[in-house]
Amino acid sequence: MAETGGTMESIIALAKRRGFVYPSSEIYGGFAGVYDFGPLGVEFEKNIKDDWWKTTVYEREDIFGLDSAIFMNPKIWEASGHTKGFSDPLVECKECNTRSRADKMLEDIGVVADEKMDEEEINRIFSEHRAKLKCPACGKQSFTSVRKFNLLVKSNLGDFTNNNSAPAYLRGETCQGIYVNFKNVLDSQHPKLPFGIAQIGKAFRNEISPRQFLFRGREFEQMEMQYFVRPEEEMAEYERLRAHRMNAILGLGIKPENLRWKKHEKLVFYAKEAYDIEYKYPWGFDEMEGVHARGDYDLTQHAKGSGKALEYFDDEKNERFVPHIIESSGGVGRLFLALLCDAYTEDEMGGEKRVFLKLKPELAPVRVAVFPLLKNRPELVSKAREVYVGIKKQFGNAMFDDNGNIGKRYRRQDEIGTPHCVTVDFDTLGEKPELKDTVTLRDRDTGKQERIAIADLLSKIG
Ligand code: ATP
Repeated sequence: MAETGGTMESIIALAKRRGFVYPSSEIYGGFAGVYDFGPLGVEFEKNIKDDWWKTTVYEREDIFGLDSAIFMNPKIWEASGHTKGFSDPLVECKECNTRSRADKMLEDIGVVADEKMDEEEINRIFSEHRAKLKCPACGKQSFTSVRKFNLLVKSNLGDFTNNNSAPAYLRGETCQGIYVNFKNVLDSQHPKLPFGIAQIGKAFRNEISPRQFLFRGREFEQMEMQYFVRPEEEMAEYERLRAHRMNAILGLGIKPENLRWKKHEKLVFYAKEAYDIEYKYPWGFDEMEGVHARGDYDLTQHAKGSGKALEYFDDEKNERFVPHIIESSGGVGRLFLALLCDAYTEDEMGGEKRVFLKLKPELAPVRVAVFPLLKNRPELVSKAREVYVGIKKQFGNAMFDDNGNIGKRYRRQDEIGTPHCVTVDFDTLGEKPELKDTVTLRDRDTGKQERIAIADLLSKIG
């Protein structure tokens, strides 16, 4: 049987069944747009973030890490334009009250629209195509007019008035924490331009219709890097960053044919250029991350808002100026989902159908699984545990499994993408003296097994 991919339903079911992702608050009926990561999900997510940190921070000399707080002075969101302009066009079905994003409904019937359009423009386009638009929940065609809905999530942190008249926001994106720390990093690390600041952290948005699993949540994590450059070098650096991000994503093992660049046709007024990296999710190509050239907008706005100069002083040329910013901004969840979709494979092995995740070994939530051939033979179990402990010391995420026949154990590991399984049998104990202290090592993708000395295991799978 040829290899085939999976449907969205099969991928979500696997994620839940095997402990990658659970719906949040499930025993209370769930909580829309929020997910919890289970024991395997947390490992997978960590590997994704570690890889991003490695290619973004460790493999370069000009990028610094940051972990800014989720809560920030609310003036930041005014200066950045979010309190006024961070909104999506909301339309409500008059029959069943389901709220939808008008731009996405239009896109679904092939009409060009986006969240940046003003209320008048999107209402005009929506009315023009009204005859073809149906409520995604009940199928009826009776809608309210479109209104812009602000996505910032409010809290009453520090407000003891009961009317929440001055809300503190949960950050809608992590990069604002980077902009407002530009001067701190400059003054404490003394980098020369160009340099960047990278951050991974939670962001929150009141998404009108969270959907497509991790793709559009109300709580999610972002990996963002803001790179500060000389104005005249902005576009050349932008092209370098685009190439860098695409190479890093290809390095994760995603199939090139499932990735593409999409240029933003409609730019916000300050942007120089904007492209998204799109992945071919089961419903079609959609945004996985953005790479944008933002000019001097962000630093200028925060300089105006705070009254503090956010400039760079070039001591050789004796000149002071506001650096321009290029950024890469990706969601951990969108990459997590893309990697799961890309790796999910069905084929046939030994006359049986199987599901396996063809993940790059470094990303797999479990790096190696160790089995004793039989669970009721203490000498096999204790030898297998010894091997397991040695591997766990090296890789952290190893698994011990003595449950069921070996074939079933292989299938269970295949399904979660474990690249290698190690079996300890009687030959390991010396039944055939020449095989003493050897084990079988099985490869996930081919199912091939080889006999290997325990002493060589770590270097072989490392
Ligand atoms: P979209 O148009 O899909 O709403 P966006 O253009 O508003 O996304 P950005 O504000 O550019 O997204 O955010 C940068 C990245 O953060 C996105 O490319 C995506 O990977 C991630 N992201 C944004 N919103 C969400 C969300 N609601 N859930 C999960 N990830 C998200």
